[in-house]
Amino acid sequence: MHRHDLSAATVAVSAGRPPRVPGSPFNAPLTFASAFIPGGESEYGRHGNPAWDAFETVLGELEGGRALAFSSGTSATAALFELVPAGGAVVAPVHSYNGTLTQLHERARKKQIELRLVDISNTAEVVKAAEGAALVWIETPTNPALEVADIETIAGAASRAGTAVAVDNTFATPLRQKPLDLGADFVVHSASKLLSGHSDVVLGAIVTNSGRAWRALESRRRTLGAIPGAMECWLATRGIRTLHVRLDRAEANARELHKRLRASSLVAESRYPGFGTIIAFEINAGPEAAQKMTEQSSLIVYATSLGGVESTWERRRRWSGEPTTIPEGLVRLSVGIEDVDDLWADIRQSMESVD
Ligand SMILES: *Cc1c(COP(=O)(O)O)cnc(C)c1O
Repeated sequence: MHRHDLSAATVAVSAGRPPRVPGSPFNAPLTFASAFIPGGESEYGRHGNPAWDAFETVLGELEGGRALAFSSGTSATAALFELVPAGGAVVAPVHSYNGTLTQLHERARKKQIELRLVDISNTAEVVKAAEGAALVWIETPTNPALEVADIETIAGAASRAGTAVAVDNTFATPLRQKPLDLGADFVVHSASKLLSGHSDVVLGAIVTNSGRAWRALESRRRTLGAIPGAMECWLATRGIRTLHVRLDRAEANARELHKRLRASSLVAESRYPGFGTIIAFEINAGPEAAQKMTEQSSLIVYATSLGGVESTWERRRRWSGEPTTIPEGLVRLSVGIEDVDDLWADIRQSMESVD
């Protein structure tokens, strides 16, 4: 059987393992070394590590390209923005992840780029903005507004215009969305989220099927030193082994909780794009009550970040960098793999206690 015939679940479990040599471990080993004996692939710890290779192999196979691990999703994003020529235009969602927006605004202020913010769910607006641009940055679904972009149409138009397209695939993961297959040039991940899945890693990655772009990004990583830790890559590889199982369970939970939230008289609005593990909702009692609700739940953890086995929630506007177009009271709920009735009991009790 050829590897490209394998389903994503099988790839998640089997890719990136060492060759089957008698006596060798069948898991990729964790190598702590700042230097290697000359004559092999890599001589120095900033240039490579076997634990990076395992993570990059499995993620690359899942996304259908060649991956590069970075120290965080943020440094992966920065490495990609480094490829934009001086003064080039970058199109990005007005509701991009706020760390991404911070980087874009900083670069625009220094006149390194021209920034064109768009409603990423408005395909015509995005396609128009992409004319003459160097890069279209897509995040879909967006964090935390959960808007969905039409990657295929945008990538088709951008490629005719000679504009590169990158997709932040953190929320969907390659199991729900494969941007390279839809015509995108780059996929970017915060592997700190669903890929590693246990809220114990900060790690990022870029995947591309252009050899030239891969080499340019590898050179950025090596030159800027935004390299991952061996331990982080090893943990993320182990996380990916169960990604499909965690995602199926958390998604089923999210679907059910969204249904119950929409039916509740205490809830003003619940957003869920139909896939993935993130729900964004507002309660009738308002932003202050929403803040109190998130701080006092007993099961769901009041915390930022997302994509772990445990459910977490927070009111996003408690962060000063959050766009002011995100409603004050919007609560982002990252649904984990707990029992759905236990989660609902906690949500209902928390909502009732502040109503
Ligand atoms: C968390 C996140 C990032 C940033 O990743 P880090 O690993 O925290 O640097 C980028 N994009 C999205 C959608 C995220 O959720």
